[in-house]
Amino acid sequence: MSRIDVDKLAEDLLKGKRKALAKAITLIESKNKKHEEEAKRLLEKILPHTGNSIRIGISGVPGVGKSTFIEAFGLYLIENGHRVAVLAIDPTSQITGGSILGDKTRMEELSRREEAFIRPSPSGSFLGGVARRTRESIFLCEANGYDVIIVETVGVGQSEVKVAGMVDFFLLMQLPNAGDELQGIKRGVMEVANAIVINKADGDNLEKAKLAKKQLENALSIFMRVDEDWKVPVLLVSALKKKGMEDVWNTIMEYVKIKKSNGKFLENRQRQDIDWMWSVVMEGLKSMLENNQKVAALAKDMEKAVINRLTTPSLAAEYILEGFRKSLCKGDLPWID
Ligand code: GDP
Repeated sequence: MSRIDVDKLAEDLLKGKRKALAKAITLIESKNKKHEEEAKRLLEKILPHTGNSIRIGISGVPGVGKSTFIEAFGLYLIENGHRVAVLAIDPTSQITGGSILGDKTRMEELSRREEAFIRPSPSGSFLGGVARRTRESIFLCEANGYDVIIVETVGVGQSEVKVAGMVDFFLLMQLPNAGDELQGIKRGVMEVANAIVINKADGDNLEKAKLAKKQLENALSIFMRVDEDWKVPVLLVSALKKKGMEDVWNTIMEYVKIKKSNGKFLENRQRQDIDWMWSVVMEGLKSMLENNQKVAALAKDMEKAVINRLTTPSLAAEYILEGFRKSLCKGDLPWID
């Protein structure tokens, strides 16, 4: 990508031009320094036009039916006058080299619709920037006129919690298996879920799904309540038969209504933005530390000292931090070019 006319791109984005959105997301995903500057300017320009959407996180193990569900749900929303953007985060792409979310043709029908926008997972390390770029992509989609943003992720533990931290409503998808499947849900994930959807509640699976629903409801009642306004519901759907979509949407709308009426909707978004700010500060500090040659040399010595039991890990850490502080005080900033 060559140099970008940021003003024009912002203007096209706000006019709802589809190509502008794809281009803007490519810009924020770029690691080129010039593009990074342009991306910042673009985001500041469009910021006043963001926030007018419902942001929904969806997670579940591979094969649970996420893409089938998002297709059915997205089409239902479009029929009801919405514009739907789907952003994927695939934390497994880093490990496997391939992408679970990207390898197959997904959501074919939805992707053909003018009112839908689907973007696969950006490449790169999940912790080092993908979450941040997805957050920025949410802003871009909102500025482009999408009023429902779906952030999809494969359920592998930490990614759900990250996604829950960037959406208004987090939906956990489950297979219609009772019993041992229950144990597969980690407590941390259960705590961030605002609803649990049991998919494939059709045909022979329907009875199993009903049983799983009961078990999940019991499990939820035992788990500590973290939200006094909301009882996490368990919903049965069949993405394949496009059944239950209205239920899911009504549930989300009910949640949003409650949270807006007591001010917690906005409060949650503000807290998410502040957390986001701090996570970028932390990332920045970490990279400053890692790229500071004096600190790196000191750290090597300290590692040896810890291994040889010449000092404690805490003391060694304090020496490193002190070294970092001193290099900052001297105006010695080797990481800035
Ligand atoms: P993902 O990996 O979570 O995105 O799962 P997919 O959407 O690719 O679905 C995995 C498989 O489950 C596919 O063969 C789907 O056709 C099937 N599937 C998805 N939803 C349903 C459903 O509601 N009922 C049934 N019976 N099969 C489904």
